Amino acid sequence: MKPAAAHGLLLSSLCLALCCRGGARGSPTSSDNHEWKKLIMVHHWPVTVCKEVEKDCRDPPDYWTIHGLWPDRAEECNGSWPFNFEEIKDLLPEMKMYWPDVIHPLNHSHFWKHEWEKHGTCAAQLDALNSQKKYFGGSLGLYEKLELNSILQKLGIKPSINYYQISDIKDALASMYGVVPKVQCLPPKQGEEVQTIGQIELCFTKDLRLRNCTEPGELGESGRAWGPGLEVCEDGPAFYPPPPQSAR
Ligand code: 5GP
Repeated sequence: MKPAAAHGLLLSSLCLALCCRGGARGSPTSSDNHEWKKLIMVHHWPVTVCKEVEKDCRDPPDYWTIHGLWPDRAEECNGSWPFNFEEIKDLLPEMKMYWPDVIHPLNHSHFWKHEWEKHGTCAAQLDALNSQKKYFGGSLGLYEKLELNSILQKLGIKPSINYYQISDIKDALASMYGVVPKVQCLPPKQGEEVQTIGQIELCFTKDLRLRNCTEPGELGESGRAWGPGLEVCEDGPAFYPPPPQSAR
């Protein structure tokens, strides 16, 4: 399929994905101080998550998983809307598979609670995401429709001991999605030659259409770290680390 056609199809299916998942619950109270403009679907590479926190993860997933669905410029929008696991019980198999706590694989719900309280309570300003079931279910729906794992495969971008050029990855993803993604890396540690790919972000408007993560003229977030150590990748070579077993 041509990229432009794929983009059109993707947009309509993304909207459908959100409409069909999760049931609404009462409207949240949203604070006027928590204005945001775009939603960021953050995928992370589990091998790099483990490296970032210097944890020797036993068996990290060998596919990109969800870190979160984050409104830009707004966090912790409703402290009186606590995470309630019961509301997303139906989603448990998909949550464990696609939104695992990579760092604490035996207890995912602490991570989900954190994501809900920090980001979900802000995303819930949108009708399409205004319950925990809709936020988590909608995020899973976007993740499934974006199909980042199979798109990377199709592009021939696979974990490798050889380095990639960041511009090649960004350009290839932009040609598939029709929008500019943001790619984040761990800067090289002492003794390392290059940065390590860690996160891929794809951005949405408030009506859930794909948009560029940074528009020309918009104040960039270059250098802004989302997690300890992660930064917008520098142009140049980067390591996309294979999972431990296939690295041998
Ligand atoms: P945020 O707090 O904005 O959702 O994301 C940044 C934080 O998430 C960082 O502290 C990072 O270490 C943490 N983080 C990233 N991936 C994971 C994960 O899989 N599990 C847990 N528990 N924390 C994570």
